[in-house]
Amino acid sequence: MDQTKILLPESELPQQWYNILPDLPTPLPPPLNPATGQPIGPEDLAPIFPMELIRQEVSSERWIDIPDDVLRVYKLWRPSPLFRAHRLEEYLGTPARIYYKNESFSPAGSHKPNTAVAQAYYNKQEGVKRIFTETGAGQWGSALALGGTLFGVEIVVYMVKISYQQKPYRRMLMETWGATCYASPTDRTEAGRAVLAQNPDSPGSLGIAISEAIEEAAKDPEAKYALGSVLNHVLLHQTIVGLELKKQLAMVDEKPDVIVGCVGGGSNFAGVCYPFVKDKLDGQEIDIIATEPTACPTLTRAPYRYDFGDTAQLTPLLLMHTLGHGFVPPPIHSGGLRYHGAAPTMSLLVKEGVIEARAYHQNEVFEAAVTFARTEGSLPAPETAHAIKGAIDEALKCKETGDEKCIIIGYSGHGHFDLAAYDAYLSGKLEDYQYPEERIVEALAEVPDIEPPTA
Ligand SMILES: *Cc1c(COP(=O)(O)O)cnc(C)c1O
Repeated sequence: MDQTKILLPESELPQQWYNILPDLPTPLPPPLNPATGQPIGPEDLAPIFPMELIRQEVSSERWIDIPDDVLRVYKLWRPSPLFRAHRLEEYLGTPARIYYKNESFSPAGSHKPNTAVAQAYYNKQEGVKRIFTETGAGQWGSALALGGTLFGVEIVVYMVKISYQQKPYRRMLMETWGATCYASPTDRTEAGRAVLAQNPDSPGSLGIAISEAIEEAAKDPEAKYALGSVLNHVLLHQTIVGLELKKQLAMVDEKPDVIVGCVGGGSNFAGVCYPFVKDKLDGQEIDIIATEPTACPTLTRAPYRYDFGDTAQLTPLLLMHTLGHGFVPPPIHSGGLRYHGAAPTMSLLVKEGVIEARAYHQNEVFEAAVTFARTEGSLPAPETAHAIKGAIDEALKCKETGDEKCIIIGYSGHGHFDLAAYDAYLSGKLEDYQYPEERIVEALAEVPDIEPPTA
């Protein structure tokens, strides 16, 4: 039981992804066409996504086979190790057992390649020459650049301008893997030009970059678009993480009492927890805790409404917790957690009380990150540090109650490209920020006037 790394043999790599759609406690309300208010069909998505991904997006099959070529690429870093955080436990003096499922060993340093390589593969299969996408801090852009280079598809990335300027290393990584990267808003698209006309100094946002990438993909017959989070097929691909985790926990005779992850759009956490959500719905007692920044409190404070996924209102309407499609995030350091919405399936599970959500300020998050780095050695991404903060809080509760719980952390990535943020924290320059209530009220006014269905 005092094992530190729980390694799954390559021969045990799961061969299927798990689709939560058929197991949700209430059916997922469909995406709507904003023009008609009617549910969209596969044909509406065909200009921007390959057919196989559209099929997966709406599939009601519980298990979906992972193609052999994708499995072969997965084996470059999968199965990923599960670690027991012995030194963190000792430091905290907790009777809890803390484990972290470590996705930082992928070539891009996060969980994102789990879907990026699958998406690049399906696009290649269907003859797509290039894929347009957006990226915030650069993690998704670099993951898709990796997928593109491994499967021979050209990748074009619209990167949020403020990150493009402040975080040049992710851009260099994308370019090394052969991708082209633009600082968004650009003057290459109507969406970008509209934003620049209003505000030439716009720092950009994920919503604006998505608009630019979709517009480009829609007008190029050889191109498609790719999204790194939020959509059902993206979360589906990430379930490889939780399926491996299940096998690894069985190897050490454990069952999770608490699973904690961080949520931007919801993909890494869905990957870790969805295979266990099924167990919880079947009666097993598990606390499933989603964490996010107080500066972008999508799951903890935003209304549950139909809204667009992007600023220019090009996407179908998704029913989700949303801070409004016009959301321009405050400048916090967890770039990957600054999206205005969250995955419809995760939003539904939070609304139904299956998943609990908590928000943290950035200083307490970095305090947890530094504690982790000084005990376990590894330096987490600022996004990941939200999950660590949540897990430390749970472990300290166990210290008070004496509960010997098994706590799992979804360790979504490393922070080697985020050292400037660590520097800001260590030199006392990080400021906490609470998203103002007025802005949430304003967002309600801007989302389309469609009542969510009542159960
Ligand atoms: C992108 C990212 C996230 C947030 O995105 P999700 O889709 O919510 O997973 C979290 N952690 C890391 C390391 C990321 O790169």
